[in-house]
Amino acid sequence: MTSNSALQSRRVAAVPRGVSTMLPVFAAKAENAEIWDVEGRRYIDFASGIAVVGTGHRHPKVVAAVQKQMDAFSHVCVQVTPYESYIALAEKLNERMPGPGPKKTIFLTTGAEAVENAVKIARAATGRPGIVSFAGAFHGRTMMTMALTGKVSPYKIGFAPLPGDVYHVPFPDPYHGITNEQSLAALKTLFKADIDPARVAAIIIEPVQGEGGFNPAPFDFLKSLRKICDENGILLIVDEIQTGFGRTGKLFAVEHSGVAPDLMTVAKSLGGGFPISGVIGKAELMDAPIPGGLGGTYAGSPLACAAGLAVLSVIEEEKLLARAMAIGETITGRFKKLATTNRFACIGDVRGLGAMTAVELVKDRSSREPAAELTKALVSKAAEAGLILLSCGVYGNVIRFLPPLTISDAVLNEGLDIIEKTLGDL
Ligand code: PLP
Repeated sequence: MTSNSALQSRRVAAVPRGVSTMLPVFAAKAENAEIWDVEGRRYIDFASGIAVVGTGHRHPKVVAAVQKQMDAFSHVCVQVTPYESYIALAEKLNERMPGPGPKKTIFLTTGAEAVENAVKIARAATGRPGIVSFAGAFHGRTMMTMALTGKVSPYKIGFAPLPGDVYHVPFPDPYHGITNEQSLAALKTLFKADIDPARVAAIIIEPVQGEGGFNPAPFDFLKSLRKICDENGILLIVDEIQTGFGRTGKLFAVEHSGVAPDLMTVAKSLGGGFPISGVIGKAELMDAPIPGGLGGTYAGSPLACAAGLAVLSVIEEEKLLARAMAIGETITGRFKKLATTNRFACIGDVRGLGAMTAVELVKDRSSREPAAELTKALVSKAAEAGLILLSCGVYGNVIRFLPPLTISDAVLNEGLDIIEKTLGDL
């Protein structure tokens, strides 16, 4: 039997350090909300492979759909001999995208590719170059998505020059004192000082910033952005890559605000573990690029579309939107209670939307000074105790909770008990 430490040595020798690993835990098997490592140790999974297995590891319906497709054909390329599942999945997403009028969808493979394509479509549809993004945003690791991403380290170090015509404004963050009004004022200043709004193709926003710290965009703020976009002929792109497919208690997080975007990027949970991403948008915008301008060899592969269709039916059949709300309440309820005690003075903010919840760890509650080292220690000690946790945030001090939406109450509470004990002992 191989060991975690043996694999860690081989990894360091064979894989570049740029692909960093959070924990020296090598997966051997996973089922629903549990992972077993190569040494046979069991872990509760509060990461879902970074928000991917919302329907749990190896959901039997997703596995069966992919296996059935594999038996029929695995790859032909939609640009050569198309297939029905691509169309069927596009139809389902077109129906579910918020807002009136006809929609169209293209499929890609990764989240970053979806964002790249949304930018291509926005530029083709408007004939304008500028894209406005937010501080703290994360949109991917390709050249354009790096440019859109707010945080510099580690994502952008050494990779310049990045594409131009990208502008950043602050994201509202009430816990750290950034109000809606301040963000909107910064956008106004940008339009006066740096770029004429008539040269801006799109504003791109995560409805809940993911890597940036699980900060929900206030609904009023999204409404204000919609209004500014409408007044200036700017498109609103909502990046639902981490928030989509039930995580926040709605199929798409933007639905909570009642705002209808022009374009929406999706990925992660759509495939339930099989790589697939997409751009959904108003049909007239989606048709702006000329034939051949969009696509990719593996984009929307038959296996990925089969997985996507299975995931959508599992979300419906297993009522995972309601389940997401219940999971969110269990998690935030537990931490809000702990946050009133002296023993857990390190718990600053407890926030989230549906099951996209997070706890901000601080050195002390009154100064709200970020406790990044404590956060690191919690992630590492929780793994030793059998729980996979993820951190995030501009200051690295946010613990984010991304358990599969199919997790049982027993396993969810077992995981929360591990955090309470581990954090209490640190
Ligand atoms: N956009 C958001 C909101 C994300 O959270 C991520 C990944 O975490 C991406 C884009 C990039 O997706 P990928 O890593 O699949 O390229």
